[in-house]
Amino acid sequence: MECLNCHVGFMRRPANGHPAYMECPDCGAIELTYMPQDYQEGIHEVPYRYTDGEIDTQIVGAFGG
Ligand SMILES: [Zn+2]
Repeated sequence: MECLNCHVGFMRRPANGHPAYMECPDCGAIELTYMPQDYQEGIHEVPYRYTDGEIDTQIVGAFGG
């Protein structure tokens, strides 16, 4: 899978073997491989709130999320 940051490297499993992300050996970008469970999807649909062009700090949480 091509790196979507530098478009040069190919994403690979990190040296520590962690299953939650892939990394680009050329630029260091990471891509999460996390796929939410059904009960976790709602938390990802919370919209960002903006004030003066910046994202407001929000506290969002869910059990297991
Ligand atoms: Zn890259």
